Amino acid sequence: MDVRDIAARYRRDQQRAEAERGKYPVHAIAVPVQFPFLISLAMSQIQQDADGRAILRQSSVTLGNGLFPRPVDSWKMREEFLLLKQTDDELLGFLDKFGWWDPTRPLIPVEEFWVFRETLMQALCWPEKTRGKQLSQTGFQGLPGLFATRLQASFAYSDGSPKFVVSTSGCADALIATLQCDLARGKEFRKCRGCDVIFPITSKHDKVFHDRDCQHAALVQRRREEQRKRKAEIRATRERSK
Ligand SMILES: [Zn+2]
Repeated sequence: MDVRDIAARYRRDQQRAEAERGKYPVHAIAVPVQFPFLISLAMSQIQQDADGRAILRQSSVTLGNGLFPRPVDSWKMREEFLLLKQTDDELLGFLDKFGWWDPTRPLIPVEEFWVFRETLMQALCWPEKTRGKQLSQTGFQGLPGLFATRLQASFAYSDGSPKFVVSTSGCADALIATLQCDLARGKEFRKCRGCDVIFPITSKHDKVFHDRDCQHAALVQRRREEQRKRKAEIRATRERSK
C-alpha cells in the first residue's frame, strides 16, 4: 500500500470520528466520587541488578500478615513520602508501612522513587493549569501528561445514593489521586521558605512558612546573622582605628 494512501485513510477516519463526536456530545453529570484508598501490605527489599543499579522488589505478604487491602490516609502518606530522607532504609520503612507501590510492577529501579518524589514536590506548587494538564490523559494535544494515570471507577449504589468509587491499588496511584482530588477542590500549595515542607494555602494571607516554629527558627537565624554582621563591622572599625 502506498504511504500517501495510508495518510489519506488516516485523515478520513480521523475526520469521521470527529464528526461523530460532534453529533453525540459528552454527557456531564454531577455525582459524588469516592476514593477508598485501599492498599495491601507488601514485602519489600532492595537488590542490585546486573548493572549495579538498586532495584526495589516487592512481593505479597503471606496469609495472616495483612493480605487484604487496608484503608490508607493518602494525604498523610503524601506528607510522609515528601519528607523521606533519600536513603534505602527510609524508602523501605515507608513501603513497609504503606504497602505496594504499584502491584503491576514488582521490580522498580530505586532511582525512580526519588525522581517521582522530586517531581511530585514540584508539581504541588505548579499553577492549577499546569497541574491539570500534567494529570490529564489528553493534556498535551491528545497526549498524556507526566502524572496521567488510568484509575478504575465502578458504579455503586448505597444508602439511596448513586456514586462512583475509584479504586487505587498502590501508593503511586493513591499519591496521584490526591493531586487529582486537590485540583478538583481548587487547592493550592506552596513550599515553606524555611524547610522542605509543602503546605496548602488556606487563606489570602501570604503565609511563607509552614508553621510558627519554622517562622520562629527563620527569625532567630536572621537575627543571628544580623548580629554576626554587626560584630564583624565593629571589629573592622576597631582594626581600622588601631
Ligand atoms: Zn517549614
